[in-house]
Amino acid sequence: MRASNERLHLGNYEGALRVWIELQDKYEMFCMVADWHSLTTLRAGQAFDVGRNSLEIAKDYVAAGLDPEKCAIFIQSHVPEHAELHLALSMVAGLGKLERVPTFKEKKDDLGAEQQVSYGLLGYPVLQAADILLYKPYGVPVGKDQAPHLEVSREIGRSFNSMFGVEVFPEFVNIIDQDELRSKLPGLDADENGVLRKMSKSYDNCIYLSETPDETAKKIKSAFTTPTKLKKTDPGIPEGCAVCQYLKVYSPDWQTAWDEDRAGIRGCMQSKTECIEVINEYLRPMRERRAALGDDEIREILRVGAEKARERAKMTMDEVRAAMKLA
Ligand code: AMP
Repeated sequence: MRASNERLHLGNYEGALRVWIELQDKYEMFCMVADWHSLTTLRAGQAFDVGRNSLEIAKDYVAAGLDPEKCAIFIQSHVPEHAELHLALSMVAGLGKLERVPTFKEKKDDLGAEQQVSYGLLGYPVLQAADILLYKPYGVPVGKDQAPHLEVSREIGRSFNSMFGVEVFPEFVNIIDQDELRSKLPGLDADENGVLRKMSKSYDNCIYLSETPDETAKKIKSAFTTPTKLKKTDPGIPEGCAVCQYLKVYSPDWQTAWDEDRAGIRGCMQSKTECIEVINEYLRPMRERRAALGDDEIREILRVGAEKARERAKMTMDEVRAAMKLA
């Protein structure tokens, strides 16, 4: 299990973390902060403090409800076997296949023509395969959008087994959340056609788990609503309104809000006020846990997590080395 190395937003929580938290009572789990992955899209002159970011993400994990007593929480680079297995798997991962991975093309375009595309970016799916296969999991819980990546990891595992004639890596399943709206939580804005799009750091349309209630309120106040609803009596289209979508997820009274919005008997301001209230209440326990979590405490959680993860990772690497007949 992984998330990219940036502060976590409500979309990450709904699409990934919320599901992990449910699973931690049922399965043995390994949850990591993917710091190596975050270095695959470095831009010239834009170096960032990857270590600080990793600590903040780990705090988001614990604040959101991942329990270090139940699952191993660690930083990817603290378990060097991830890097080692990445190298081993790079011997069987096909170049053509990697070049065709849709996120490689997207990220390459994002970087723009003047930025060099790194070898690390091309190898991103190989590292992701290593992240998964190292633990020989029964399943990997991911957002729907990540499902194609898992297929690449599976293929790399199969290629390794077939190349070396040993079943080192068993098949694993996708554990996908069935909640349609939560598995693609919209952001606060709309695209150039006035259509809602997913909450994503790259669109700068996120509510972050670590922000203050005032920051959240300010963002929701300027969130995208029905553009043709200028006054209260104008009919709204809740399906295309970010605030109404949030009410659907977070307010038990959303149906009334939607009906009133459509009928022109409630204004967007009322919906926004209710939305601010329910979302801030939803985030309150996470904020409280986060505020109580110091750097020393999170570092200790990560140290213990990495130790636990390494025990498992080393066993797999022994098998990998044996299969590859490394001396
Ligand atoms: P990313 O930060 O895009 O690598 O995503 C990390 C995890 O969060 C993945 O499992 C995504 O599916 C999930 N995720 C990201 N954005 C959203 C969103 N807007 N709604 C639901 N899940 C999301």
